[in-house]
Amino acid sequence: MVADKHAVLLSAPDVGRLEQEYVMAAMRSGWVAPAGPDLDLFEREIADRVGVPHAVAVNSGTAALHLALLGIGAGPGDVVVVPTLTFVATANAVVYTGATPIFADCDVTTGNLDADLLSGLLADLRAEGARVRAVLAVDLFGSCADYERIVPLADRYGIPVIEDAAESLGAVRQGRPAGSFGRAAALSFNGNKVMTTSGGGMLLTADAGLARRARHLAGQARLPVSHYEHDETGFNYRLSNLLAALGRAQLRRLDEMIERRRALRDAYAKLFADVDGVCLLGAGAPASNCWLTSIVVDPGRTGWRAGELAAHLAARNVETRPIFKPMHLQPAFAGARAALRGAAEHLFGNGLLLPSGSALDEAQVRGVLDDIAEFLDGGR
Ligand SMILES: *Cc1c(COP(=O)(O)O)cnc(C)c1O
Repeated sequence: MVADKHAVLLSAPDVGRLEQEYVMAAMRSGWVAPAGPDLDLFEREIADRVGVPHAVAVNSGTAALHLALLGIGAGPGDVVVVPTLTFVATANAVVYTGATPIFADCDVTTGNLDADLLSGLLADLRAEGARVRAVLAVDLFGSCADYERIVPLADRYGIPVIEDAAESLGAVRQGRPAGSFGRAAALSFNGNKVMTTSGGGMLLTADAGLARRARHLAGQARLPVSHYEHDETGFNYRLSNLLAALGRAQLRRLDEMIERRRALRDAYAKLFADVDGVCLLGAGAPASNCWLTSIVVDPGRTGWRAGELAAHLAARNVETRPIFKPMHLQPAFAGARAALRGAAEHLFGNGLLLPSGSALDEAQVRGVLDDIAEFLDGGR
């Protein structure tokens, strides 16, 4: 959607005075390269927030996933189990390493990896002699995946879990923060996430060796000598110090921004509470960061489809989106293996993501709620 100051967007960046101060201070300090004090502090502050010893700042969440997979040795001949209901970057990162993604369906109530299905899939893959390098679980829309089942399952086969926490910074599951599950986790600070560096990401891990190798690869695998010496093929994945300064300001506001998203979700929950045939995806999910709120519509009960509400809102300049189109339906992954039960396809067909951003002001929120109420009252 084209930027329009009257439009209500799904999840626009939420930046203001504090961010300006931090970025200007970094600019004045002269540290405008992908190195500097804000970068070091940003890594430390995120690591402390999540409670993980090592953090490596990079220029996207996709890069963090790529480095995490390289860090556990993923490469040609390997397979990596990935949920089919995710953003494409999760699966792409697997392909970048030369490994092959195998897609698994989700739980229809949460949208996250279906642990029962995973159990059967891992048993099948073991029986076939497949080299399963990792289970790459995703915390969809800000709710942590079912790690208390996924981690022990993968452990049984000696397979590491990697957490795609691109959407879930600030969420908690069973007392543990998102980004602290598995061998390594990836955060994203893309412009539409709960907090942003305009573009950026971070790899988190308790494994010092994995962190060291990720940092090395992110800096073109350059060795610390004065001439240009490289011991393998690396990547230009480092984050700018200026963007780290932006991230530090955003991190200070993270809890406040999450509370705004939560208030919005609560308002949607109230609005739809008495509507037969509409539920919130992941309603009752433990301590989500409420990144995006989605409804799931049962048209047999409502008498209307998600797409009709989307059209009603689009006509009023309110952005919504379908839930991610599953990876096994993407032309880019045609022919990929997938273990399916129809859940992801059901959510793609009947889900609708509603405006969820913390930058929405009160008038915009009231406007969206009124527009939906108008639709529900039959004004469609
Ligand atoms: C946003 C996102 C990514 C990628 O992050 P970028 O910073 O945009 O590269 C990866 N996985 C999921 C689930 C995401 O939502």
